[in-house]
Amino acid sequence: MRKNIFASLLTALTLASSGLAPLPVLAWNDFGHMTVAYLAYKKLTPTVRARADKLLTLNPAYNAWLAQLPVNLSEAERNTEIFMLASTWPDTIKGDRSYFVDGSQHGFRPEGAGASQNIGYDDHQLHKYWHFVDQPFSYDHSPLPDDIVPNALTQMQSFDSVLASDSADELKSFDLVWVLHMVGDLHQPLHCVTRVSRDHPNGDSGGNDVLISGAGESKNLHGFWDWILGRGGPSDVIAFADKLPEPSSKAAAKLDAKTWADEGYKLAVKKVYVGPIKKGSGPFVLDEAYVSKAKALAEQRAALGGARLGNLLNAELK
Ligand SMILES: [Zn+2]
Repeated sequence: MRKNIFASLLTALTLASSGLAPLPVLAWNDFGHMTVAYLAYKKLTPTVRARADKLLTLNPAYNAWLAQLPVNLSEAERNTEIFMLASTWPDTIKGDRSYFVDGSQHGFRPEGAGASQNIGYDDHQLHKYWHFVDQPFSYDHSPLPDDIVPNALTQMQSFDSVLASDSADELKSFDLVWVLHMVGDLHQPLHCVTRVSRDHPNGDSGGNDVLISGAGESKNLHGFWDWILGRGGPSDVIAFADKLPEPSSKAAAKLDAKTWADEGYKLAVKKVYVGPIKKGSGPFVLDEAYVSKAKALAEQRAALGGARLGNLLNAELK
């Protein structure tokens, strides 16, 4: 687990020293994604679990994942933690030089037919715009920009249909890893919204352009929400996730990604862009009340995301 943190740091340092511009953080950090994946894995039926385990062996990072894990894990523990690490793959490839930024605006805007392709591991585009669905809102009557397509929702539809089909395992493996990741992203409210205003006529990139202070290392609102659940490796995540309250079975049964994104949008408007976050770019100083409410909400969303991901895979993975 430390290795994980060091590996991430190393990637960040390598990027910084190579002169590549630092990009906005656009994903729940590893801890958030692994929380969602762990809770999902616990819910999988033995058949679906075995199927997922097998598909993940086809990921090009499979041996690297194995190498990160303690050698004394049981087979069941190892498979659980592989599933957790797999959920971070769409983020970790951002530090792999064999993958490249496609699209425009540092890769956050799709361009061309390749943006929505679903071709499996031969695809070395980063597809950063698959990590979010920017549903715009405005408090000052600014005109709202058009939806960006493809996005997390359109890709989820494409991946879901492949997982439920008789497609080749290679493609299913790729789509499974993306679904593990995207269900997490779609339960982070700032992956479902962009605030449009006179200051940000094209949106604030899900809070990336809103500066904050007073909440540890995070320098912008999006980053704060991405890192809110904690830091650490798989064993830290398991200890944390086992204590999260179980979401209602009614909420966990909602498996339509559009519903999740709409919930995220509403939560962002009502509970994320609230005092001390005001109009404009900040910096805004987050107080204790904001941080503790935000943490409780993020925990709820992660628990719900995990339950939904488990239910989704049980329902569709063939
Ligand atoms: Zn992401």
